[in-house]
Amino acid sequence: MEQVLQAKLQEKYEKGIKEASKEEIYSTLLCICKEKMQGVEPNKGNRKLYYISAEFLVGKLLPNNLINLGIFEETREVLEKYGHNLTEIEEVEPEPSLGNGGLGRLAACFLDSIANLGLNGDGVGLNYHDGLFLQKFRDNKQNEEKNPWITDTSWLTRTEVSFEVPFKDFTMQSVMYDIDVPGYHGGCNKLHLFDADSVDESLIGEGITFNKEEIKKNLTLFLYPDDSDEAGQLLRIYQQYFMVSNAAQLILKEAQDRGVDLYHLHEHVCIQINDTHPTMVIPELIRLLMEKGFNIDTAIDVVRKTCAYTNHTILAEALEKWPIAYLEKVVPHLMPIIRELDARVRRDFHDERVYIIDSMNRVHMAHIDIHYGYAVNGVAALHTEILKESELKPFYDIYPEKFNNKTNGITFRRWLIHCNHKLAEYLKELVGEGYMEDATELEKLLSYQNDDAVLAKLREIKKEAKIELKKYLKMTQNIEIDENSIFDIQIKRLHEYKRQQMNALYAIYKYKEIKKGNLPKRKITMIFGAKAAPAYTIAKDIIHLILCLQQLIENDPEVRPYLQIVMVENYNVTKAEKLIPACDISEQISLASKEASGTGNMKFMLNGALTLGTEDGANVEIHELVGDENIYIFGEKSENVIKLYETSGYCSAKIYEQDPMIQELVDFIIGKELIRIGDPVNLGRLFKEIVGKDWFMALLDLKDYIQTKERMLNDYEDEMAWSKKTLINIAKAGFFSSDRTIAEYNRDIWHL
Ligand SMILES: *Cc1c(COP(=O)(O)O)cnc(C)c1O
Repeated sequence: MEQVLQAKLQEKYEKGIKEASKEEIYSTLLCICKEKMQGVEPNKGNRKLYYISAEFLVGKLLPNNLINLGIFEETREVLEKYGHNLTEIEEVEPEPSLGNGGLGRLAACFLDSIANLGLNGDGVGLNYHDGLFLQKFRDNKQNEEKNPWITDTSWLTRTEVSFEVPFKDFTMQSVMYDIDVPGYHGGCNKLHLFDADSVDESLIGEGITFNKEEIKKNLTLFLYPDDSDEAGQLLRIYQQYFMVSNAAQLILKEAQDRGVDLYHLHEHVCIQINDTHPTMVIPELIRLLMEKGFNIDTAIDVVRKTCAYTNHTILAEALEKWPIAYLEKVVPHLMPIIRELDARVRRDFHDERVYIIDSMNRVHMAHIDIHYGYAVNGVAALHTEILKESELKPFYDIYPEKFNNKTNGITFRRWLIHCNHKLAEYLKELVGEGYMEDATELEKLLSYQNDDAVLAKLREIKKEAKIELKKYLKMTQNIEIDENSIFDIQIKRLHEYKRQQMNALYAIYKYKEIKKGNLPKRKITMIFGAKAAPAYTIAKDIIHLILCLQQLIENDPEVRPYLQIVMVENYNVTKAEKLIPACDISEQISLASKEASGTGNMKFMLNGALTLGTEDGANVEIHELVGDENIYIFGEKSENVIKLYETSGYCSAKIYEQDPMIQELVDFIIGKELIRIGDPVNLGRLFKEIVGKDWFMALLDLKDYIQTKERMLNDYEDEMAWSKKTLINIAKAGFFSSDRTIAEYNRDIWHL
């Protein structure tokens, strides 16, 4: 490594390692990695997977590529020898902003595991120049700015691959960029990101605004552009079709290059449709096969045996339904096929709940996927049961054999070996290196559960991670935190179902207790990190509440020694990697039945935090694995929540009126302390929402939540007992390796 780095730096910048700047070292390491990855044999196999996804939240790539290429340690040592620090070099890399949350992060973990297992599978998506958005706080509110991440030296490699994508009034020429995805054990796959040379960043005005009608110039500027008006919805359809038309053309080209007889396409290709965004790949492939001479029956038959669909949510607003009129404006050539797909469904099934086109002339994308794919999976055991028993029941009755569960996972390369190097090394000492291959070997840790020296060491590692986070927050946001306090962390997209508002009400509770003189045994540091969708008003109001509480407490000398609130700006993968190793309490408090799986919960568990959560998503499976003693479960169960929705049996106003303690906490939102700091419009609106609607039932579980959290804080003071619980959580986390998830996808769905 030393010689290679030396030679490259000399060649590029005429500098030695010692003299080179961080930026120069970063871009030189990037070049070295890229060259190495070019030399790695691509994974091969008779059947090839294409994982199509609107999002790939890959995070910074330098450290993970160094790890997967097996040169991380070496590089670190060489840099150290010349007075550089690899962690500081990593800071130079801009995080690619190609995802929003869990779904996009899952796609990135899957690419890592697919490569690691030596499977033949590539990702396909779009190359958004300015990503989702960059979150900035101003006046205790979220502001959105563009987030450009593509620099001169980047992980993208421009390829010669280019296709014509036909829209109603014009065609667009694409260009394909590739990012290499090396496996931990050799082998290499690709993430293909489509873009267009006509896209023009100068279209962007104030914040993240731009002309939504200039499709050729705006198509790949942003992920999830505002769709609160017709132009925004049309743009999303343009984006989705651009993504899948390119994917379909690439798939057919590669198949033909391999000499595949397209009548046997399904034997050589499978397509995983990640949520409904890539659904149009189904009619598009049918169309392209018909252009090549297939009759429609055969085209449908081949495509049906090629495509599989993953459902990620049961939130109605996320199950896409496009008005026919919009599809006619963008992709009229798909409509005859979609109408035919619907006609066949109507011929075979006399149940309008499973039709593709509904009585309001909207096309239900998930229905296309279920009828015209060969597999449908949910992402955690409870989620799949809810799909089968309620949300997608009419479909399950028709196609029971298509439904299956694949509980999500996370890549341990990023979420342990890279982000918590010290813990990873210590685990290696305790249980051997085998766990890096087979994560279930972490169970060997259980034999140390009563070993005081091991438990003390785990605490020491946690403390060091807290100190690292303290330095990072000081550097990035100039915020001072106390490493001796208990770190209680909720980081995830801002959504009412995830119930950050309930956590904020806890903060109000604690504030009031401290004011009354009921002081906690130890200071509590409550950390939040979350972006709100730019058009999601209530989510932004919740951010405003949290930031106002942060300011209120910061300026109150009575409360500050016992309670601190920190909202991390622009929560992303990089920040997650700093926050998770330092966490004591992992907040997974969604309303039961609403969080399909969650993957943050798994990352925290693996890093020795204890879960405070509802029986929701993969929390249920964590609970089963670690047992009642080692997790803090509260709240209404999913069956009861589902019943409450069915019977409209929930009324937050009643709870508010009948419970003086809850009333006092909710009233605080519009009380004099906060109104002095915050914006009465935002706080008033949030207050009204909680008392008048509270669609995700924060008040239902609030009391149980407060009591359970108090019990948890109390338990923290028994150091040994707490550390034993954290050890058991780490030991049982092996099940949540995405290597396990991907092995199951391959066994049951892909058959690569
Ligand atoms: C893991 C992860 C998520 C998903 O978190 P959940 O708690 O499962 O919603 C979202 N964003 C980032 C940056 C992540 O790393």
